[in-house]
Amino acid sequence: MTDSVSLNVIGTIDSPYKEKFAIPRQPGIVTAAQGQLRLTGLANNAELVRGLEQFSHIWLLFIFHGTQAQGWKPLVRPPRLGGNKKLGVLATRSTFRPNPIGMSVVKLDRIEQQSSQVILHISELDLLDGTPIVDIKPYVPYADIIENAHGGYAQEQPSSNIDVIFSNAAHLTLTDNIGHCPTLQSLIEQVLSQDPRPAYKKNSKDDRIYGMTLYDFNINWQMTAIATLNVIAIEKIVSITKSIE
Ligand code: SAM
Repeated sequence: MTDSVSLNVIGTIDSPYKEKFAIPRQPGIVTAAQGQLRLTGLANNAELVRGLEQFSHIWLLFIFHGTQAQGWKPLVRPPRLGGNKKLGVLATRSTFRPNPIGMSVVKLDRIEQQSSQVILHISELDLLDGTPIVDIKPYVPYADIIENAHGGYAQEQPSSNIDVIFSNAAHLTLTDNIGHCPTLQSLIEQVLSQDPRPAYKKNSKDDRIYGMTLYDFNINWQMTAIATLNVIAIEKIVSITKSIE
C-alpha cells in the first residue's frame, strides 16, 4: 500500500474493561457495561456535539490500540466458527486488520460538561479502557437498520444458557461495594454468561480458574459444570499511592 492518511484522535474511552479478555465480541450484548467518552484536544468543545443528544445511539469509530502493535494477517480464525476455520480478515470483525479501525454502536445516555471537559456517557460498549476514538456519528435507524440483511456465519447473537453463581465471599464483596459500584453484579453476570473462554472450550467443563478485571475489581471464576459458572472471589484492587517526602 503506497497511500496513507493520518487521523486525529478526538476522544478517549473510560471503560470497565481493563483488559481484552472477557470483553463482549460486539456492543449491545452486555447492557450493564457503562463507560465515558472524553473528548480531547481541539475536539473537546461542546459545539462539536450540539444536537447529538437527540440520538439514543451513536457510532464510534476507534483504533484497536490494544492489538495494533501485533500488526495484521490476511486470514484469521473467527471465534464464532469455533476458532478452527480460517476466513479472510475483511470477512470478519477481527482486530488484526490492515488498518486497526473498529466500529461500534453504543447507547448515548447523556452528554455532560465538567468545567472544560466534554463527556459523553455511554453504555452497552465493547471497548477496552483507553480506546482512542477517531469519529462519532449519530445512529440513524432508517439508514442503518437493513431489514432482511444476511449475516453470513454470524446471523444471530450467540445464545447463552450459562448460570452464574456467586460464592458467599464474592457476595460479601458485592454487598460491601454496592454504593461504589451498583452495577457490578449485573456486569459480571452478563459478561460471564457469554462464556469468555477460548471458543474451543465452549460447552465444556473446565478445572482452570480464570481471572478478569472489571472496573477496579479482580474477579476469579471457574466453569464448574457445562452450564454453570462459579464466581469464586471478587477483590477490590487497592491502589498504593506513594507519598513524596
Ligand atoms: N464492534 C467492533 C467492530 O466490529 O469493529 C469490535 C469488534 S471486535 C470482534 C471486539 C473485540 O475487540 C472485543 O472483544 C475486545 O477483545 C477487542 N477490543 C475492544 N477494544 C479494543 C482495543 N481498543 N484494542 C484492541 N482490542 C480491542
